[in-house]
Amino acid sequence: MKYKTVVAATGNEHKLKEIREILKGYHVISAKEAGFFDEVEETGKSFLENAFLKARAVVEKTGQAALADDSGLCVNALGGAPGIYSARYSGGDSAANRRLLLDNLENENDRSAHFECAIALVFPDGEEYSSIGKTYGTIVREERGENGFGYDPLFFSEDLQKTFAEASDEEKNAVSHRGRALAGLLEFLKDEE
Ligand code: IMP
Repeated sequence: MKYKTVVAATGNEHKLKEIREILKGYHVISAKEAGFFDEVEETGKSFLENAFLKARAVVEKTGQAALADDSGLCVNALGGAPGIYSARYSGGDSAANRRLLLDNLENENDRSAHFECAIALVFPDGEEYSSIGKTYGTIVREERGENGFGYDPLFFSEDLQKTFAEASDEEKNAVSHRGRALAGLLEFLKDEE
């Protein structure tokens, strides 16, 4: 691998844990550990644009390889919303986001949805790589399960036949949008060795 250390441009402990579990054998450090404390504005129009904005900002400041992800939930009956606005859907916390989603889907029979994750990997020499992962399911009418974060208690995974919040970390990582995007990235890193 060209660069031994990769800075994961996220402050989200859940995501960091998932990234470390999947990129076993690589030295993944958090943005804070790399001395990066800036809040990068997510002004992109797609998950991938936002991921590149964050990764490039970290590379510029730290001089180290950086990996950033941007992800969210896309609900068909809502025209793909909350999409890139998933984290700030209601203006409140995750619980408020989930309540708003349930309210907006109250009379809706089409509950189909997918999570999408775009990952950008940017090297200090300017080389860039990206990977996209998706996972499909439906939005249940009541929260189920205690694990995970964000919309996990509402997302019934087609692959797992339970919500992401009812799944173990290992089960979720095997089929999740982030797991799939990271798997694509891992292939690339192997070729780099
Ligand atoms: P980001 O941190 O800008 O990528 O925003 C992602 C937002 O989408 C999170 O705050 C969650 O609300 C939602 N999200 C992304 N991935 C997941 C997941 O694996 N489970 C549940 N919610 C997720």
